Amino acid sequence: MAERLIKEYSSPGRKGYSLPPLEVPDIDVEEHVGNKYSRDELDFPEVSEVDVVRHYTALSELNYGVDSGIYPLGSCTMKYNPKRNEDIARLNKLAHIHPYQNEDDVQGSLEILYKLKEDLAEISGMDEMTLQPASGAHGELTGLLIIRKYFEDKGIEKSKVIVPDSAHGTNPASAVMAGFDVVEIDSNEHGMIDIDKLKDAVDDDVAALMLTNPNTLGIFEKDISEIAEIIHEAGGLLYYDGANLNAVMGYARPGDMDFDVLHLNLHKTFSTPHGGGGPGSGTVGVKEFLKPYLPRPVLSKDEDCYYWDYERSKSIGKIHAFYGNYGVLIRAYSYIKTLGSSGLKKTTENAVLNANYMKNKLKEDFVLPYEENSLHEFVLSGVKQKEKGASTLNIAKRLLDYGQYAPTIYFPLVVKEAMMIEPTETENLDTLNRFIDTLKTISKEIEENPDIVKNAPHNTSVRKLDEVKAAREPDLRW
Ligand SMILES: *Cc1c(COP(=O)(O)O)cnc(C)c1O
Repeated sequence: MAERLIKEYSSPGRKGYSLPPLEVPDIDVEEHVGNKYSRDELDFPEVSEVDVVRHYTALSELNYGVDSGIYPLGSCTMKYNPKRNEDIARLNKLAHIHPYQNEDDVQGSLEILYKLKEDLAEISGMDEMTLQPASGAHGELTGLLIIRKYFEDKGIEKSKVIVPDSAHGTNPASAVMAGFDVVEIDSNEHGMIDIDKLKDAVDDDVAALMLTNPNTLGIFEKDISEIAEIIHEAGGLLYYDGANLNAVMGYARPGDMDFDVLHLNLHKTFSTPHGGGGPGSGTVGVKEFLKPYLPRPVLSKDEDCYYWDYERSKSIGKIHAFYGNYGVLIRAYSYIKTLGSSGLKKTTENAVLNANYMKNKLKEDFVLPYEENSLHEFVLSGVKQKEKGASTLNIAKRLLDYGQYAPTIYFPLVVKEAMMIEPTETENLDTLNRFIDTLKTISKEIEENPDIVKNAPHNTSVRKLDEVKAAREPDLRW
C-alpha cells in the first residue's frame, strides 16, 4: 500500500512534544513583536512522535537501494558501498572542521586531499587533478572550460566539439554549456567510432573529441591510438569521460591512451552512495600543459606544508563553493586505501567478469546487438519480446514485481528497445543468477501471456505512473 503524506496524519492539537509549564509570565507575541513575522497559513501537520517515526520508517521501507539488492542500472555503477567509508567520513575530526579554518590547523585534512589527488592522478595517468567539481556533468563542464581557456590563451579560435552518438547525454549538454557547437558522429556496425566518419568531421575548428572508453555499449574503442592521432594532428584535444573507471582501473590508463583532460566520478567507481541528485564528485585530471587553467585554488605542497594556491592568473576560476564535496572525497580515499592497487585491479576484474557472465547467459533469450567483447556493462535489445507484445519498458516494470531493480532502458539510443545492464563487481554468483533467472522467466511469460508483463507492475506500492504528466506539470507543493 502507498504510504500517506504526513499531512494526512494531521489532527488538530496532536503534538510530538509537550513543553513544561511556563515559569515566567506569558506574553502576547502579537502585542510585543507585531504580526509582521508570524504567519498563520503555514499549516504544519499536527502529529505525535509515533506518527512521525512510523511515517518515515514506512517511507524508508518503500525505498529500494544498493543496500536492498542488485541495482544493475547501466552506466550508473550502483554498486554496494562499504560502510567502512561511511564511518571514516563521519569521524568528528573530519566532519566537524570548517572549510575556511586556518590552513595550519587542518594540515591533516589537506594531506588527505593531496594524497587523494596523487592517487587519482596515478590511477588515471594524468599530471594534476582538481577535486572541486561536484558531479560528472560538472566535471565535463570544468574540463571543457579548461580546453576553451587554453585555446583562448594561445589565441586560437575553435568552436566545435565532436561527440559520438553512443556518448552519455551529459557530454553534448556540457559542450553546449561551455559555448561549443556539437558535431555528432555515428558509430559503426561494431558499436565503435567510425574512423572514416571521424576523419570527415575533423577540421581546424575542432577543439576536442569527447569519448567514453569503454563506450556506453561497454565496448573498448580498439582504434583509440588512431583516434587520438587524428584529433591531435588537427590541433584538437582529447577529453575522456571516465565516469565508469571500474571497467579499466588498474589495467589501462586514459593518460596513456593520450587523453589530455578527463573526469572521474568518485561517487560511482570510488564508492559513495549516490542517486537522486547527489552528493558526488566529478574530479578532473589534466596533462601538464593544461595545469595553469585548472580551477582556483589549487591544493599545493611546500616542503611539508599543504596550502591553497590562489595565485593562478590563467585559471578558469572557482567552480564550487569551498574546495569540493569533502565527504565524498574522504569516502573515495578510504576506498582506495582499503583496497590498495591489487584490490582496485580485482575490482575491475570482477566488474568485467560479472557483466560478461550475465551477457552470455542472457543472450540466449534476448537479442545481443553487438557481439564485440564488452567490459563492465553490456546492452541487450528487447525487439524480439516487443514483437510478442511486451516492450522493454514493460520488462523493466515486471522486474520490480520480482523485487529486483531494472536496468537502464532506451539508452544508448543506437540500440532499439535497449536494456543497458551493469551488474557491478559487488554482486555474487547467487545474486547474478537470480537476476538472470528473473529475466528469463519474464521472457517466458511474454511467450505465454504477454498481458501479465504488459500490465506490470502488479505488486508495487504504486502502479503505472503518468510519467509524461509528471515531467510536464510537476507539482512539488502539497
Ligand atoms: C554518470 C555518467 C555521467 C554523468 O555523471 P553525473 O555525476 O550524473 O553528472 C557522465 N558520463 C558517463 C559515462 C556516466 O556514466
